[in-house]
Amino acid sequence: MSKPSEALGKPTGTVYLVGAGPGAPDLLTLRAAHLLERADVVFHDALVHPETLALAARAEKIAVGKRCGRHLTAQKFINKRLIDAAAKYATVVRLKGGDPMLFGRAQEEIDALQAAGVRYEVVPGVTAALAASAALGIALTQRGFARSLCLVTPRVGDGARPSDWAKSIAASDSGAIYMGVGQARQIADALHAAGMSGSMPVAMVENASLAQSRTIFTTLAELPNAAGETLTGPAVILIGAQFVAAASEADHSMPLLASVVSGAK
Ligand code: SAH
Repeated sequence: MSKPSEALGKPTGTVYLVGAGPGAPDLLTLRAAHLLERADVVFHDALVHPETLALAARAEKIAVGKRCGRHLTAQKFINKRLIDAAAKYATVVRLKGGDPMLFGRAQEEIDALQAAGVRYEVVPGVTAALAASAALGIALTQRGFARSLCLVTPRVGDGARPSDWAKSIAASDSGAIYMGVGQARQIADALHAAGMSGSMPVAMVENASLAQSRTIFTTLAELPNAAGETLTGPAVILIGAQFVAAASEADHSMPLLASVVSGAK
């Protein structure tokens, strides 16, 4: 651990908002790995792989996972801890799952750091939708099927503006839904209401990039039945005509017309 960077507590450290990638520890950028190696302190999300954290050998590691319903307070607390850490240490890493700038509440942290006059830098990471696409070997912008991709979440955060996410995804050639598995019925209803056909192919990929990754192929009509209790880990819902071949190859003897495919490719 390096010495406090300034006795009087004026922030002189830099806070790095770093993408940890989707889960596999080797899906980390070299820049992220180098920063972890020289970090004095690492504030990390709950899902970050232990091997990724192990790269930060000299750092104090602090889990700052948030719990549903307590996001606002928790976020303010995290912001304050980052600012305080920058007054004490040269290299502060805020390690977030996937890419920090996608559904990662990075902006709240950036705004707070800027307001406090703390230097910051963002290091991108591999986001879940891209890891899921890689796991399936099916492109999100497959030629002949999709020239547009919509990334959405139906989850409404504290103070968030309403979003017509269902219309956006229905108007797009393919879509990736984050934080949606627990709301499969509402998602299916909203997409139906936005005009999407019940036969639209859907692939749900859980724990993309990890050995225990599983995929469920289904259709929009069957999505509420297929999601259910089957998936317990983080999962992304991919929607698009290009998943039709995989979905029809899926084993339809499985209950609920869904097929579970285990293991990362
Ligand atoms: N910033 C992250 C997303 C954070 S929101 C990123 O860029 O990936 C958390 C959601 O991401 C989860 O609810 C799930 O929908 C998705 N997710 C995260 N890791 C995942 C993984 N390994 N496989 C599938 N989905 C994942």
